[in-house]
Amino acid sequence: MKHFIIHTLGCKVNQYESCQIEQWLRSHGFCPASPGSPADLVVINTCCVTQTAASKSRQAVRKLHKQNPSAFLILTGCLSAAPVEETADLPKTAVWAADKHQLLDILRSLLGPSEDREPNGTSKAPFSYKIKHKNDPDTQQFPSIDPFGPLNSFSGQTRAFLKIQDGCDVCCTYCIVPKIRKKLWSKPADAILNEAKALLAAGHKEIVLTGIFLGAWGRNTARRKNWDLSQPNPLPPLLKKILRLPNLERLRLSSLEPADVTDELIEVYQQYPNLVPHLHLPLQSGSDRILKRMARQYTSEEYLNICRKLQEWLDRPAITTDIIVGFPGESEEDFEKTVEICRQVGFAKMHVFPFSPRKDTAAARMKPPVPAAVIRRRAERLQELDTLLQEQFRRQFIGQTVRVILEQTNPPAGRCDRYFMVDCSAADFPEPPIQGQVVSIRLTR
Ligand code: SF4
Repeated sequence: MKHFIIHTLGCKVNQYESCQIEQWLRSHGFCPASPGSPADLVVINTCCVTQTAASKSRQAVRKLHKQNPSAFLILTGCLSAAPVEETADLPKTAVWAADKHQLLDILRSLLGPSEDREPNGTSKAPFSYKIKHKNDPDTQQFPSIDPFGPLNSFSGQTRAFLKIQDGCDVCCTYCIVPKIRKKLWSKPADAILNEAKALLAAGHKEIVLTGIFLGAWGRNTARRKNWDLSQPNPLPPLLKKILRLPNLERLRLSSLEPADVTDELIEVYQQYPNLVPHLHLPLQSGSDRILKRMARQYTSEEYLNICRKLQEWLDRPAITTDIIVGFPGESEEDFEKTVEICRQVGFAKMHVFPFSPRKDTAAARMKPPVPAAVIRRRAERLQELDTLLQEQFRRQFIGQTVRVILEQTNPPAGRCDRYFMVDCSAADFPEPPIQGQVVSIRLTR
């Protein structure tokens, strides 16, 4: 029996893809290594969206290589498609899979010829594979489609992620993603529905639709100026089909941009209570000057108008966001505009990212840089505001009953529809609570 470790860094798309890899390995006779035991195969699904993420990925590679010196080491994910110099110091024995097709080829080759396999399907012999390095022409990216196939279940989580889209060609100036996952791909609607049915049959009550640019599902570009606006938004009809599936307690969308939030989409939120009123809309900055430098596809006014419409049309939606502070050239006045719009929206949660230049992006070359101490101070201010706004948002629900899906049982706790965690330890459970159980909880504090 061959044992594997999969180590995942980064976003929901990476987490979904790691789950696909795990499913494939299990179905081919591999089994997970017990904690602390060495593995025969280590797959590291890396991230390189920021310099910090890239350096965490490199650290993970070194650490896992040290802990599993004789394991066959495969590096996949975004760092494996990043420029060669970013990975030059990593173990030379590692095999690169810059794309999931390549990864599948490598994994298949590890099974060896069928006559050399154990009854469970894994190779009797030590793994062998002709190592290719990143700068070999053979390791360049294949088109980004999904070779691993649908998930049957999302192991280890009550919420199942379902990847329906890949790729972005927008080129926001701080972002490396369009260099790594440029080609847009949308999972066909039938495949999405079948996968969602399988996830529900496996007992998941909540599905989170994920993608690199979710709002570009069904389109061949994420650049809005190239969209044919005479055509209807393809996302709402897809959502309706998913939302009608039996036993789907909750559907959540991982992230959208303001222009994705069309009237048709808000109407779907109104019509289907299992589409939870939580929208993650990355703002990044409240200053139009900075949004323009970032090459974002909206203005602060458009952003604010969408939030107001959501708040008018839906019952107290949880609007969450990402903000970058200290983008090159961000003045005190620009920053104050960000603070102001955050107050006006009243975010349920803000993820605050101090700007750090990502190599090979346009923003890394932009001037003038904001001094580190100023970035720190601005980030602290927004974090304080976040604490205040989160509290204000949650306070509205005191005395009301919310629906919670338990993620843990000792003590019982889970997320409500609007995504905040609810401590259910004071609730009266007639039977011992179980993970994944849907409970109604009256909020007392
Ligand atoms: S929309 Fe912008 S931030 Fe998002 S993945 Fe594309 S380039 Fe990156």
